[in-house]
Amino acid sequence: MIELPSGCVKQRDKKTYGVRVTPPAGMLTPDDLETVARVARKYAVPVLKITSGQRLTLLGLKEDEVGPVCDELPFKVAGHYVQACPGNQWCQFGVQDALEMAAEVEKRFSCATVPAKLKLGVSGCFICCAESYVRDLGLVGTRKGWTVLVGGSSGCSARVADVLAEEQSQSQALDLIARFLDYYRENALIMQRVPHFLEERGIETVRRALV
Ligand code: SF4
Repeated sequence: MIELPSGCVKQRDKKTYGVRVTPPAGMLTPDDLETVARVARKYAVPVLKITSGQRLTLLGLKEDEVGPVCDELPFKVAGHYVQACPGNQWCQFGVQDALEMAAEVEKRFSCATVPAKLKLGVSGCFICCAESYVRDLGLVGTRKGWTVLVGGSSGCSARVADVLAEEQSQSQALDLIARFLDYYRENALIMQRVPHFLEERGIETVRRALV
């Protein structure tokens, strides 16, 4: 059996595979779309799915097609996902650059080794279109900087994230996330998601340790 990268999963038919790739912050150019379409046609992909995390999954692949497809696509195969809104580059309401922040978050943390998977949301204003309050880690732009959120979930035990810090510059927010991930790695149980970790430990304890 071929070893598959994470993000490549066997499908319900137990025969074919899906390859999930991550357009950075969910942004694609016309050239990207043409490349994806060319690869999909070449390997007779019957359908593609845009996932809830702003990723793209090519479905119905044979096992020996997975590797070449990953190599030929213009995006990397999924790690932790970073969901972002258009922020102040495109949206009239944006007060912070969510796309630039999401690119940095993705660069620094999408492959982080942590006890369980991470979902991250970066929103350019309080309207919070990237669902930052229901993600393991969230960022919300305000006129005074970034609010850093931890411990949200939109799953069956939905939880609104706790505010870890407010009015952070981009570099302060990124450094705080890095410190939080170190703390999470050192103190959480294997497979314990961030919301459960926060429930157990309490935001005050986490804040005292990190802020
Ligand atoms: S969160 Fe704010 S900046 Fe981002 S898309 Fe929504 S309204 Fe626009």
